[in-house]
Amino acid sequence: MDNCLFCKIIAGEIPSTKVYEDEDVFAFRDINPQAPVHILVVPKAHIPCADALDETNSRAVAKCFEAIAKIAKAEGLQDGYRVINNCGADGGQTVMHLHFHLLGGVKLGEKMI
Ligand code: 5GP
Ligand code: ZN
Repeated sequence: MDNCLFCKIIAGEIPSTKVYEDEDVFAFRDINPQAPVHILVVPKAHIPCADALDETNSRAVAKCFEAIAKIAKAEGLQDGYRVINNCGADGGQTVMHLHFHLLGGVKLGEKMI
C-alpha cells in the first residue's frame, strides 16, 4: 500500500529494529517505547485497522498472536505482558495499518479495564 508507514517498514524502505519475521507477520521495536519491551506486531498484509477485519482476512490476527507468543518467550516475558490494539480516531490509532502493541518487561500499571 502506497504511503503506509508500516508497509514501508515491512518492505525495508524505512529502517526498523526487527525482532521477528515470518511469511505473514513482521515485528519491530516501537520508536517511542512505553515499557522496557515495546514491540509492534504487524500483519504483512495491509489491513487498515481492526474494524476492517472480516472472514477473508482475519487469519492475519491469529498469525500475529502466534508470533506474539514466540516473541514474548524470546524477550523473556515469562511473568506476563500486555497486548493492545488501538482502532480508529477515538481509539487513538495513529498509523492506519493494523498492529498490536506488545508491552512488558515491567509490572504494568494504568489499566483501563
Ligand atoms: P498507534 O498509535 O497507531 O496505536 O501506534 C503507532 C505506534 O507506531 C506508536 O506507538 C509510535 O511510537 C510507533 N511509530 C510511529 N512511527 C514509527 C516509526 O517510524 N518506527 C517505529 N519503529 N515506530 C513508529
Ligand atoms: Zn500498510
